[in-house]
Amino acid sequence: MSSSKLRHQTSISSSSVDPNERIKLLIEFGSKVEVDNTLAVKLYLRSGREMLRMANMFCDDGQLESAFILYYKFIILFVEKLPLHQDYKHAPPEDIAEFKRKVKKVFPIAEIIKAKLKDRYAEEEKVYLADQKRLKEEREKADAIRKKALEEQEKQDAALAKKLQEEEEAEVRTEQEEKYLKLRIQEEEKLKEKERRKQEELGDGIAGAGSGMSVQVVAAHAVADTHESVGRVVPNDKDDATLPPPPSYSEYLSDISTDRPQIPDRELKKKLVLNDNNVPIVDRSCKPNTDHHLSLGEFGGLGFGQLRTIVVPSILMSKFLTAAEINTVSEAETMGILCGKMAQGKFHVTTLFIPKQKGGHDSCDMENEEELIFYQDEKNLITLGWIHTHPTQTAFLSSVDLHSHFPWQKMMPEAIAIVCSPKFQENGIFKLTDHGLNVIGSCKEKGFHPHSKDPPLFEICNHVEISLSDSVIVEDRRK
Ligand SMILES: [Zn+2]
Ligand SMILES: [Zn+2]
Repeated sequence: MSSSKLRHQTSISSSSVDPNERIKLLIEFGSKVEVDNTLAVKLYLRSGREMLRMANMFCDDGQLESAFILYYKFIILFVEKLPLHQDYKHAPPEDIAEFKRKVKKVFPIAEIIKAKLKDRYAEEEKVYLADQKRLKEEREKADAIRKKALEEQEKQDAALAKKLQEEEEAEVRTEQEEKYLKLRIQEEEKLKEKERRKQEELGDGIAGAGSGMSVQVVAAHAVADTHESVGRVVPNDKDDATLPPPPSYSEYLSDISTDRPQIPDRELKKKLVLNDNNVPIVDRSCKPNTDHHLSLGEFGGLGFGQLRTIVVPSILMSKFLTAAEINTVSEAETMGILCGKMAQGKFHVTTLFIPKQKGGHDSCDMENEEELIFYQDEKNLITLGWIHTHPTQTAFLSSVDLHSHFPWQKMMPEAIAIVCSPKFQENGIFKLTDHGLNVIGSCKEKGFHPHSKDPPLFEICNHVEISLSDSVIVEDRRK
């Protein structure tokens, strides 16, 4: 495999084998932190806390790459980016102090994880290179075997051709010798016959025609002679020229070589090439928003733009509706925050936090957000989304809901919004579409206001799994 190919592959699947290169890619991704002046500093502080909790969770779950990216993002956010926010100097000094302390703690943790990742990458590189070496050796071995078989075949062909040629030559020689021998015998017999006739003529002259025995002998000879000349055509020079030529050696060989079973090396090669290109190609045409603060991009074991599964216990909705009942009766909305943990690569909603709130007919606002932060820090829970009731309407995201959900999903792409409609007995689990994120992100309107609905701004989540067996803790702070 050429190095350029390898590099190409790297940029697609982030599976570069060079440990330093892989660390560099992680750092590059972790550095991509955007701070928007139109979003409140408070929101970034919240995002920062989420980052840390989530990084800790990834760390516990053994997902070091994801943990490293989030720690790195945290550092970049609070050391480089947030201080440039126009309202940074107005942020509560105790919050800034808290984050400075946290950054100091995170630095060495990130370094330790980096070192661990580097070790792991080095180990993976070793395995990869060993695999490559083994593959190369196997390929060379197969080539050598093929080459040897080819040579052996050629040798056999040559030997066979030589043998056939020799046999052919020997046959021709034998034939010619036989012909020659026959000619000689005939010549000799002719001579003998001549001699005998001479003798007979002489004898006739001397003894006269009285000897019957002599005539008989001559007759017998004559018969033999006739028989001979009828049964066998005596070859002459002219006949020799019409004899078929001995078969050509080269013709024979070429015949054999075309008949030889072909080794399907072209097929083999095709397969090898396929193997090289079998790296799953990531479709970048549907590139989603990448500026979620908690986005892990193509790192963290998922494909580019893929969302982690959020497991929601089915009992969550009924427990929430029970807690919301008093408000629902008076047609006021109720809201709660979905908190959870990460386990085996999935998010699990484990806790429903119902904050102090002010609920209206068609909206609901959280009060005293610090309680939530404190609780989450204490229990090491991350925010996975929110839930609210529509006492009089169906389950959907209103324009106010879209704006309320935006920061959650902006910070974490998996964040969900559950809407429960007891009146219509339906629950919806929604998220903003990529288009919705863009529209709501740039919409400055407040209160209820119309948005263009085509293409849709929100959609039903397909990264949610409903669990019939999981339980949920309800933390109700309204009491
Ligand atoms: Zn709503
Ligand atoms: Zn709007």
